Amino acid sequence: KRKSIVEDIPGVTRDRIYGKAEWLTKEFRVIDTGGIQLADQPFRDEINMQVEIAIDEADVILFVVSGKDGITMDDEYIARLLQKSRKPIVLAVNKVDDFSQNDAIYEFYNLGLGDPIAVSAAHGIGTGDMLDEIVKAFPDKQQKEYEGMTRFCLIGRPNVGKSSLVNAILNQERVIVSDIEGTTRDAIDTPLKRNGREYILIDTAGLRRKSKIHEDLERYSIIRTVTAVERADVVVMVIDAAEGVAEQDAKIAGIAHERGKGVIIAVNKWDAVEKDDKTIYKMTEKIKQTLAYMPYAEFVFISAKTGQRLDKLFELIDMIIENQSMRIATGVLNEILAEAVAMQQPPSDKGRRLKVFYMTQISVKPPTFVVFVNDKKLMHYSYTRYIENQIRNAFGFRGTPLRFIIRERKEDK
Ligand code: GDP
Repeated sequence: KRKSIVEDIPGVTRDRIYGKAEWLTKEFRVIDTGGIQLADQPFRDEINMQVEIAIDEADVILFVVSGKDGITMDDEYIARLLQKSRKPIVLAVNKVDDFSQNDAIYEFYNLGLGDPIAVSAAHGIGTGDMLDEIVKAFPDKQQKEYEGMTRFCLIGRPNVGKSSLVNAILNQERVIVSDIEGTTRDAIDTPLKRNGREYILIDTAGLRRKSKIHEDLERYSIIRTVTAVERADVVVMVIDAAEGVAEQDAKIAGIAHERGKGVIIAVNKWDAVEKDDKTIYKMTEKIKQTLAYMPYAEFVFISAKTGQRLDKLFELIDMIIENQSMRIATGVLNEILAEAVAMQQPPSDKGRRLKVFYMTQISVKPPTFVVFVNDKKLMHYSYTRYIENQIRNAFGFRGTPLRFIIRERKEDK
Protein backbone atom coordinates (compact mmCIF):
# COMPACT_ATOMS: atom_id res chain seq x y z
CA LYS A 1 0.00 0.00 0.00
CA ARG A 2 1.05 3.58 -0.45
CA LYS A 3 2.62 5.05 2.60
CA SER A 4 4.05 8.43 3.33
CA ILE A 5 6.20 9.56 6.19
CA VAL A 6 4.70 8.02 9.28
CA GLU A 7 6.30 9.87 12.14
CA ASP A 8 5.86 13.59 12.31
CA ILE A 9 9.02 14.65 14.07
CA PRO A 10 10.32 18.17 13.63
CA GLY A 11 13.69 18.38 11.95
CA VAL A 12 13.28 15.16 10.04
CA THR A 13 12.56 16.13 6.48
CA ARG A 14 13.25 12.79 4.86
CA ASP A 15 12.47 10.01 7.21
CA ARG A 16 12.72 6.36 6.55
CA ILE A 17 9.34 4.94 5.74
CA TYR A 18 8.40 1.72 7.41
CA GLY A 19 5.47 -0.59 7.79
CA LYS A 20 4.52 -4.03 8.98
CA ALA A 21 4.31 -7.00 6.67
CA GLU A 22 3.70 -10.72 6.85
CA TRP A 23 4.90 -13.56 4.63
CA LEU A 24 4.61 -17.30 5.30
CA THR A 25 3.25 -16.56 8.80
CA LYS A 26 6.36 -14.52 9.67
CA GLU A 27 5.73 -10.96 10.68
CA PHE A 28 8.34 -8.36 9.99
CA ARG A 29 8.93 -4.68 9.53
CA VAL A 30 9.91 -3.16 6.21
CA ILE A 31 12.09 -0.08 6.26
CA ASP A 32 12.20 1.94 3.10
CA THR A 33 14.97 4.46 2.63
CA GLY A 34 15.45 7.42 0.36
CA GLY A 35 18.07 5.36 -1.46
CA ILE A 36 21.82 5.75 -1.27
CA GLN A 37 22.95 9.01 -2.86
CA LEU A 38 26.49 8.99 -4.17
CA ALA A 39 26.68 12.14 -6.24
CA ASP A 40 26.54 15.55 -4.59
CA GLN A 41 22.84 16.21 -4.26
CA PRO A 42 20.76 18.19 -1.85
CA PHE A 43 19.96 16.16 1.30
CA ARG A 44 22.63 13.61 0.38
CA ASP A 45 24.19 13.45 3.85
CA GLU A 46 20.88 13.28 5.57
CA ILE A 47 19.60 10.55 3.27
CA ASN A 48 22.74 8.51 3.70
CA MET A 49 22.42 8.87 7.44
CA GLN A 50 18.93 7.44 7.16
CA VAL A 51 20.26 4.55 5.08
CA GLU A 52 22.96 3.91 7.64
CA ILE A 53 20.43 3.72 10.45
CA ALA A 54 18.18 1.48 8.40
CA ILE A 55 21.06 -0.92 7.68
CA ASP A 56 22.04 -0.87 11.34
CA GLU A 57 18.50 -1.64 12.38
CA ALA A 58 17.74 -4.34 9.81
CA ASP A 59 18.13 -8.09 10.08
CA VAL A 60 18.10 -8.52 6.30
CA ILE A 61 18.95 -6.04 3.57
CA LEU A 62 17.07 -6.02 0.29
CA PHE A 63 19.31 -4.45 -2.32
CA VAL A 64 17.31 -3.31 -5.35
CA VAL A 65 19.02 -2.71 -8.69
CA SER A 66 17.55 -1.90 -12.08
CA GLY A 67 17.53 -4.64 -14.73
CA LYS A 68 17.05 -1.98 -17.40
CA ASP A 69 20.37 -0.29 -16.69
CA GLY A 70 22.71 -3.24 -16.12
CA ILE A 71 25.38 -3.03 -13.42
CA THR A 72 26.39 0.56 -12.77
CA MET A 73 29.43 1.88 -10.92
CA ASP A 74 27.09 2.92 -8.15
CA ASP A 75 25.74 -0.63 -7.84
CA GLU A 76 29.30 -1.93 -7.46
CA TYR A 77 30.10 0.66 -4.84
CA ILE A 78 26.92 0.08 -2.84
CA ALA A 79 27.41 -3.70 -3.00
CA ARG A 80 30.80 -3.32 -1.24
CA LEU A 81 29.25 -0.96 1.30
CA LEU A 82 26.48 -3.42 2.11
CA GLN A 83 28.88 -6.34 2.40
CA LYS A 84 30.68 -4.47 5.15
CA SER A 85 27.49 -4.57 7.21
CA ARG A 86 27.82 -8.37 7.45
CA LYS A 87 24.05 -8.63 7.24
CA PRO A 88 22.31 -11.12 4.93
CA ILE A 89 21.65 -9.44 1.58
CA VAL A 90 18.92 -10.33 -0.89
CA LEU A 91 19.53 -8.97 -4.38
CA ALA A 92 16.45 -8.03 -6.39
CA VAL A 93 16.76 -7.03 -10.04
CA ASN A 94 13.76 -4.84 -10.66
CA LYS A 95 12.00 -3.71 -13.85
CA VAL A 96 12.18 -7.18 -15.40
CA ASP A 97 8.65 -6.71 -16.68
CA ASP A 98 8.34 -9.82 -18.83
CA PHE A 99 9.93 -13.22 -18.92
CA SER A 100 11.80 -12.68 -22.19
CA GLN A 101 14.02 -10.17 -20.40
CA ASN A 102 15.02 -12.70 -17.77
CA ASP A 103 18.60 -12.95 -19.14
CA ALA A 104 19.17 -9.44 -17.90
CA ILE A 105 19.68 -10.72 -14.41
CA TYR A 106 22.75 -12.88 -15.07
CA GLU A 107 25.31 -10.10 -15.17
CA PHE A 108 24.29 -9.20 -11.60
CA TYR A 109 26.04 -12.34 -10.36
CA ASN A 110 29.15 -10.20 -10.78
CA LEU A 111 28.15 -8.14 -7.76
CA GLY A 112 29.11 -11.11 -5.62
CA LEU A 113 25.94 -10.99 -3.56
CA GLY A 114 24.58 -14.41 -4.53
CA ASP A 115 21.62 -15.25 -6.76
CA PRO A 116 19.87 -12.24 -8.25
CA ILE A 117 16.08 -12.51 -8.24
CA ALA A 118 14.16 -11.03 -11.16
CA VAL A 119 11.21 -8.93 -10.06
CA SER A 120 8.84 -6.39 -11.45
CA ALA A 121 7.47 -4.05 -8.83
CA ALA A 122 5.14 -2.55 -11.42
CA HIS A 123 3.60 -5.92 -12.34
CA GLY A 124 4.11 -7.78 -9.10
CA ILE A 125 6.17 -10.50 -10.79
CA GLY A 126 8.76 -12.44 -8.77
CA THR A 127 7.96 -10.78 -5.47
CA GLY A 128 6.89 -14.09 -3.92
CA ASP A 129 10.28 -15.68 -4.63
CA MET A 130 11.96 -12.58 -3.30
CA LEU A 131 9.95 -12.67 -0.07
CA ASP A 132 10.79 -16.37 0.35
CA GLU A 133 14.48 -15.48 0.29
CA ILE A 134 14.04 -12.57 2.68
CA VAL A 135 12.11 -14.64 5.21
CA LYS A 136 14.68 -17.46 4.97
CA ALA A 137 17.40 -15.06 6.06
CA PHE A 138 15.64 -13.95 9.26
CA PRO A 139 17.43 -14.74 12.50
CA ASP A 140 15.82 -17.19 14.90
CA LYS A 141 14.11 -15.47 17.72
CA GLN A 142 15.57 -16.19 21.12
CA GLN A 143 12.91 -14.38 23.06
CA LYS A 144 11.52 -17.52 24.68
CA GLU A 145 14.54 -17.68 26.92
CA TYR A 146 13.43 -14.59 28.80
CA GLU A 147 9.81 -15.46 29.22
CA GLY A 148 8.21 -14.19 32.41
CA MET A 149 10.78 -11.45 32.93
CA THR A 150 9.63 -7.84 32.96
CA ARG A 151 10.75 -5.99 29.86
CA PHE A 152 11.35 -2.26 30.02
CA CYS A 153 13.04 0.40 27.91
CA LEU A 154 14.06 4.04 28.20
CA ILE A 155 12.95 6.59 25.66
CA GLY A 156 13.25 10.35 25.36
CA ARG A 157 14.91 13.21 23.60
CA PRO A 158 18.70 13.25 23.08
CA ASN A 159 20.79 14.30 26.10
CA VAL A 160 18.09 13.75 28.70
CA GLY A 161 20.35 11.10 30.19
CA LYS A 162 19.09 7.79 28.82
CA SER A 163 22.49 6.21 28.40
CA SER A 164 23.64 7.58 31.75
CA LEU A 165 20.62 5.88 33.33
CA VAL A 166 21.31 2.62 31.55
CA ASN A 167 24.85 2.75 32.86
CA ALA A 168 23.71 3.71 36.36
CA ILE A 169 21.28 0.79 36.42
CA LEU A 170 23.79 -1.67 35.02
CA ASN A 171 26.55 -0.51 37.35
CA GLN A 172 24.34 -1.03 40.37
CA GLU A 173 23.02 -4.37 39.33
CA ARG A 174 24.45 -7.70 38.56
CA VAL A 175 24.08 -8.14 34.86
CA ILE A 176 23.11 -11.75 34.41
CA VAL A 177 24.67 -12.12 30.99
CA SER A 178 26.39 -9.32 29.22
CA ASP A 179 26.72 -9.02 25.47
CA ILE A 180 24.71 -12.01 24.45
CA GLU A 181 26.02 -13.59 21.28
CA GLY A 182 23.70 -13.80 18.36
CA THR A 183 21.66 -11.47 16.30
CA THR A 184 21.72 -7.74 16.65
CA ARG A 185 18.27 -7.89 18.11
CA ASP A 186 19.26 -10.12 20.99
CA ALA A 187 22.44 -8.23 21.63
CA ILE A 188 20.50 -5.19 22.76
CA ASP A 189 18.54 -7.07 25.43
CA THR A 190 20.28 -6.98 28.77
CA PRO A 191 18.92 -9.27 31.47
CA LEU A 192 19.53 -8.01 34.99
CA LYS A 193 18.56 -8.92 38.52
CA ARG A 194 17.44 -6.47 41.18
CA ASN A 195 16.06 -7.33 44.61
CA GLY A 196 15.61 -10.91 43.51
CA ARG A 197 13.58 -10.07 40.44
CA GLU A 198 14.67 -10.45 36.87
CA TYR A 199 14.26 -7.79 34.20
CA ILE A 200 15.18 -7.30 30.59
CA LEU A 201 16.47 -3.86 29.76
CA ILE A 202 15.70 -3.31 26.11
CA ASP A 203 18.35 -1.03 24.83
CA THR A 204 17.85 0.88 21.64
CA ALA A 205 20.73 -0.11 19.39
CA GLY A 206 23.88 1.80 20.05
CA LEU A 207 22.50 3.67 23.02
CA ARG A 208 25.70 3.08 24.89
CA ARG A 209 27.92 3.91 21.96
CA LYS A 210 29.26 7.38 22.29
CA SER A 211 30.44 9.51 19.45
CA LYS A 212 29.59 12.84 17.95
CA ILE A 213 28.13 11.34 14.81
CA HIS A 214 25.96 9.10 16.90
CA GLU A 215 24.52 11.99 18.84
CA ASP A 216 23.32 13.40 15.54
CA LEU A 217 21.95 10.07 14.46
CA GLU A 218 20.02 9.80 17.68
CA ARG A 219 17.84 12.64 16.51
CA TYR A 220 16.65 10.50 13.66
CA SER A 221 16.20 7.37 15.65
CA ILE A 222 12.46 7.24 16.00
CA ILE A 223 12.38 3.80 14.47
CA ARG A 224 14.63 2.55 17.22
CA THR A 225 12.30 3.97 19.78
CA VAL A 226 9.36 2.27 18.10
CA THR A 227 11.15 -1.07 17.99
CA ALA A 228 12.14 -0.87 21.65
CA VAL A 229 8.70 0.27 22.80
CA GLU A 230 6.93 -2.50 20.93
CA ARG A 231 9.05 -5.11 22.64
CA ALA A 232 8.71 -3.61 26.12
CA ASP A 233 6.00 -4.00 28.78
CA VAL A 234 6.87 -0.81 30.61
CA VAL A 235 8.32 2.31 29.02
CA VAL A 236 10.36 4.81 31.01
CA MET A 237 10.02 8.21 29.39
CA VAL A 238 13.03 10.27 30.45
CA ILE A 239 12.79 14.05 30.76
CA ASP A 240 15.58 16.45 31.64
CA ALA A 241 14.54 18.35 34.78
CA ALA A 242 16.44 21.44 33.71
CA GLU A 243 15.00 21.48 30.21
CA GLY A 244 11.45 20.57 31.08
CA VAL A 245 8.92 19.19 28.61
CA ALA A 246 8.40 20.17 25.00
CA GLU A 247 6.04 19.26 22.20
CA GLN A 248 8.53 16.69 20.99
CA ASP A 249 8.18 14.83 24.30
CA ALA A 250 4.46 14.50 23.68
CA LYS A 251 5.23 12.82 20.37
CA ILE A 252 7.83 10.47 21.77
CA ALA A 253 5.64 9.44 24.72
CA GLY A 254 2.77 9.03 22.26
CA ILE A 255 4.60 6.03 20.79
CA ALA A 256 4.19 4.21 24.10
CA HIS A 257 0.62 5.40 24.65
CA GLU A 258 -0.59 4.26 21.22
CA ARG A 259 0.84 0.82 21.81
CA GLY A 260 -0.81 0.44 25.19
CA LYS A 261 2.38 0.22 27.23
CA GLY A 262 2.82 1.04 30.89
CA VAL A 263 4.44 4.46 31.28
CA ILE A 264 6.70 6.03 33.87
CA ILE A 265 7.80 9.64 33.50
CA ALA A 266 11.31 9.76 34.90
CA VAL A 267 12.42 13.34 35.51
CA ASN A 268 16.20 13.00 35.43
CA LYS A 269 19.10 15.23 36.56
CA TRP A 270 17.16 15.98 39.72
CA ASP A 271 20.50 16.56 41.44
CA ALA A 272 21.14 19.57 39.21
CA VAL A 273 17.92 21.54 39.83
CA GLU A 274 17.44 24.19 42.43
CA LYS A 275 14.27 23.19 44.22
CA ASP A 276 11.91 24.07 47.01
CA ASP A 277 8.87 22.29 48.42
CA LYS A 278 6.75 23.18 45.38
CA THR A 279 9.15 22.21 42.60
CA ILE A 280 7.93 18.61 42.26
CA TYR A 281 4.31 19.70 42.21
CA LYS A 282 4.89 22.42 39.63
CA MET A 283 6.95 20.24 37.37
CA THR A 284 4.45 17.38 37.57
CA GLU A 285 1.60 19.72 36.64
CA LYS A 286 3.53 21.11 33.67
CA ILE A 287 4.36 17.64 32.37
CA LYS A 288 0.80 16.43 32.93
CA GLN A 289 -0.41 19.33 30.82
CA THR A 290 1.90 18.53 27.95
CA LEU A 291 1.16 14.80 28.18
CA ALA A 292 -2.54 15.28 28.89
CA TYR A 293 -3.47 12.15 26.92
CA MET A 294 -1.76 9.92 29.49
CA PRO A 295 -3.08 10.94 32.91
CA TYR A 296 -2.32 7.41 34.13
CA ALA A 297 1.48 7.87 33.83
CA GLU A 298 3.48 7.51 37.04
CA PHE A 299 6.19 9.99 38.03
CA VAL A 300 9.60 9.61 39.59
CA PHE A 301 12.30 12.25 40.11
CA ILE A 302 15.69 10.69 39.71
CA SER A 303 19.36 11.25 39.07
CA ALA A 304 21.49 9.04 36.89
CA LYS A 305 24.48 10.83 38.37
CA THR A 306 23.83 10.07 42.04
CA GLY A 307 21.58 7.05 41.63
CA GLN A 308 18.82 8.83 43.55
CA ARG A 309 15.45 6.97 43.55
CA LEU A 310 16.48 4.21 41.18
CA ASP A 311 14.85 1.92 43.75
CA LYS A 312 11.61 3.82 43.40
CA LEU A 313 11.86 3.47 39.62
CA PHE A 314 11.99 -0.31 39.93
CA GLU A 315 9.15 -0.34 42.46
CA LEU A 316 7.05 1.50 39.91
CA ILE A 317 8.02 -0.90 37.15
CA ASP A 318 6.94 -3.83 39.37
CA MET A 319 3.67 -2.15 40.26
CA ILE A 320 2.82 -1.26 36.68
CA ILE A 321 3.52 -4.72 35.33
CA GLU A 322 1.04 -6.09 37.87
CA ASN A 323 -1.54 -3.51 36.91
CA GLN A 324 -1.08 -4.29 33.25
CA SER A 325 -1.76 -7.95 33.86
CA MET A 326 -4.66 -7.45 36.27
CA ARG A 327 -7.97 -9.14 35.39
CA ILE A 328 -11.24 -7.96 36.91
CA ALA A 329 -14.02 -10.49 37.27
CA THR A 330 -17.04 -9.64 35.15
CA GLY A 331 -19.42 -9.60 38.11
CA VAL A 332 -17.43 -7.02 40.03
CA LEU A 333 -16.91 -4.96 36.90
CA ASN A 334 -20.64 -4.77 36.26
CA GLU A 335 -21.37 -3.74 39.84
CA ILE A 336 -19.06 -0.79 39.29
CA LEU A 337 -20.72 -0.10 35.94
CA ALA A 338 -24.23 -0.16 37.42
CA GLU A 339 -23.14 2.23 40.16
CA ALA A 340 -21.46 4.54 37.66
CA VAL A 341 -24.55 4.68 35.45
CA ALA A 342 -26.76 5.36 38.49
CA MET A 343 -24.53 8.21 39.64
CA GLN A 344 -24.27 9.92 36.29
CA GLN A 345 -27.01 9.50 33.73
CA PRO A 346 -25.77 8.44 30.28
CA PRO A 347 -26.05 11.10 27.57
CA SER A 348 -28.96 11.29 25.15
CA ASP A 349 -29.39 12.71 21.68
CA LYS A 350 -32.68 13.67 19.99
CA GLY A 351 -34.72 11.95 22.64
CA ARG A 352 -32.77 8.71 22.48
CA ARG A 353 -30.74 7.85 25.54
CA LEU A 354 -27.59 5.77 25.73
CA LYS A 355 -28.02 2.48 27.55
CA VAL A 356 -24.97 0.69 28.85
CA PHE A 357 -25.88 -2.96 29.28
CA TYR A 358 -22.84 -4.87 30.22
CA MET A 359 -19.09 -4.92 30.22
CA THR A 360 -16.34 -7.49 30.35
CA GLN A 361 -12.55 -7.53 30.30
CA ILE A 362 -11.26 -9.38 27.26
CA SER A 363 -7.48 -9.04 27.60
CA VAL A 364 -4.48 -7.68 29.51
CA LYS A 365 -1.36 -5.71 28.60
CA PRO A 366 -3.09 -3.33 28.30
CA PRO A 367 -6.31 -4.19 30.14
CA THR A 368 -8.99 -4.09 27.46
CA PHE A 369 -12.74 -3.96 28.04
CA VAL A 370 -15.70 -4.52 25.78
CA VAL A 371 -18.72 -2.38 26.63
CA PHE A 372 -22.12 -3.32 25.20
CA VAL A 373 -24.47 -0.41 24.51
CA ASN A 374 -27.73 0.19 22.65
CA ASP A 375 -26.27 2.73 20.21
CA LYS A 376 -22.57 3.36 19.62
CA LYS A 377 -23.20 6.87 18.37
CA LEU A 378 -24.55 7.85 21.77
CA MET A 379 -21.44 6.64 23.59
CA HIS A 380 -19.51 9.89 23.74
CA TYR A 381 -15.81 9.98 24.42
CA SER A 382 -16.48 11.84 27.66
CA TYR A 383 -18.80 9.12 28.96
CA THR A 384 -16.23 6.45 28.14
CA ARG A 385 -13.69 8.53 30.09
CA TYR A 386 -16.15 8.75 32.97
CA ILE A 387 -16.52 4.98 33.09
CA GLU A 388 -12.75 4.62 32.83
CA ASN A 389 -12.33 6.92 35.82
CA GLN A 390 -14.82 4.92 37.86
CA ILE A 391 -12.91 1.74 37.06
CA ARG A 392 -9.66 3.40 38.00
CA ASN A 393 -11.14 4.65 41.27
CA ALA A 394 -12.15 1.11 42.10
CA PHE A 395 -9.15 -0.88 40.90
CA GLY A 396 -6.27 1.55 40.43
CA PHE A 397 -4.61 0.41 37.22
CA ARG A 398 -1.96 3.06 37.89
CA GLY A 399 0.65 3.46 35.19
CA THR A 400 -1.17 1.62 32.45
CA PRO A 401 -3.55 2.81 29.75
CA LEU A 402 -6.92 1.07 29.50
CA ARG A 403 -8.67 0.27 26.26
CA PHE A 404 -12.40 0.30 25.62
CA ILE A 405 -14.14 -1.34 22.72
CA ILE A 406 -17.74 -0.24 22.30
CA ARG A 407 -20.16 -2.78 20.82
CA GLU A 408 -23.86 -2.53 20.01
CA ARG A 409 -26.38 -5.04 21.24
CA LYS A 410 -30.10 -5.31 20.58
CA GLU A 411 -32.15 -4.19 23.58
CA ASP A 412 -34.32 -7.30 23.88
CA LYS A 413 -31.29 -9.56 24.19
P1 GDP B 1 21.09 10.53 26.22
O1 GDP B 1 21.37 11.24 24.93
O2 GDP B 1 19.65 10.64 26.58
O3 GDP B 1 21.57 9.13 26.26
O4 GDP B 1 21.85 11.38 27.35
P2 GDP B 1 23.26 11.09 28.05
O5 GDP B 1 23.16 9.94 28.98
O6 GDP B 1 24.33 11.04 27.03
O7 GDP B 1 23.42 12.40 28.97
C1 GDP B 1 23.53 13.70 28.41
C2 GDP B 1 24.29 14.59 29.37
O8 GDP B 1 23.59 14.75 30.59
C3 GDP B 1 25.65 14.05 29.75
O9 GDP B 1 26.56 15.12 29.78
C4 GDP B 1 25.44 13.47 31.14
O10 GDP B 1 26.61 13.49 31.91
C5 GDP B 1 24.38 14.39 31.71
N1 GDP B 1 23.55 13.71 32.72
C6 GDP B 1 22.86 12.56 32.56
N2 GDP B 1 22.17 12.24 33.67
C7 GDP B 1 22.43 13.20 34.59
C8 GDP B 1 22.01 13.43 35.95
O11 GDP B 1 21.27 12.67 36.57
N3 GDP B 1 22.48 14.55 36.55
C9 GDP B 1 23.32 15.41 35.93
N4 GDP B 1 23.71 16.47 36.61
N5 GDP B 1 23.73 15.23 34.65
C10 GDP B 1 23.31 14.14 33.98
